[in-house]
Amino acid sequence: MRKKGGKEKLNRLANKHVLQLSIILFLLIIIAIVVIVARKVIISDGQATNFETEIGQMGDSDDSEGEGNTTNFDNQNETENETNTIDTVTVSNNFDVLNDWQIRLVNRENPLPDDFTVELENLDASRKFDKRAIGPLKQMILDMRNQGIKNIWAQSTYRSIEYQKGLYEKSINKYLEQGKTQEEAEKLTDEYINKPGTSEHHLGLAVDFNNVDEGFENTKAYVWLLENASDYGFVLRYPKEKEDITGIEYEPWHWRYVGPEHAKKMKEQNLCLEEYVLGLNLV
Ligand SMILES: [Zn+2]
Repeated sequence: MRKKGGKEKLNRLANKHVLQLSIILFLLIIIAIVVIVARKVIISDGQATNFETEIGQMGDSDDSEGEGNTTNFDNQNETENETNTIDTVTVSNNFDVLNDWQIRLVNRENPLPDDFTVELENLDASRKFDKRAIGPLKQMILDMRNQGIKNIWAQSTYRSIEYQKGLYEKSINKYLEQGKTQEEAEKLTDEYINKPGTSEHHLGLAVDFNNVDEGFENTKAYVWLLENASDYGFVLRYPKEKEDITGIEYEPWHWRYVGPEHAKKMKEQNLCLEEYVLGLNLV
């Protein structure tokens, strides 16, 4: 009996150990699962934050001192580094971005210096264009007319930085007289007038056709330009589907000389100047 009783005790002890081990094993599995799930949540949270940052940056105006931007400083740096790497590859493989006058990028982020100068030639009594690109512009307009598109003229071409300053200040003053604050006046003006130095009309390489309005989109001239302008070295500078990248609303009337070689590549690859020069799409 005693022997038997001892065996039973042993059995009970063994069962107890098996039970304890099972519980420990079970707890370990639960802990492992919790750790894995927790890590996943943290990672996906991180992704969500990055995504929000990108959206925020796309929609951001020139205001670079906002709280949001400060918080996202690290993310921004990462994006910039990536872009720079791509730039280097693009520059060395395709063309010399910094020294090629034809593809000089002028926009809000890349203003021209106040002392920028360019050699100009008269297109007519009141309009001037870059001396190196005026030949192709004249030829393009002539060929359009010869092909039956008589209703085409260059309305606005070269504008000096001084002239732009005048336009800009005139608009600011108009709003100040209406009782707006300086800040409001600038904001309203920025909506439709480029800050002096940031208009590519300063380069003498941009031309606005006809009445400088959206109606130009429905003309034969516009259809002809879409088809043929790249042969003369011109591109539609602010296409509808690139508004987010150029930061400028669609302008069917505004064409930019970049030279035939670049114009054809940009047309073939459907790239705007920002994409082409910065290599944003050439990964
Ligand atoms: Zn223009």
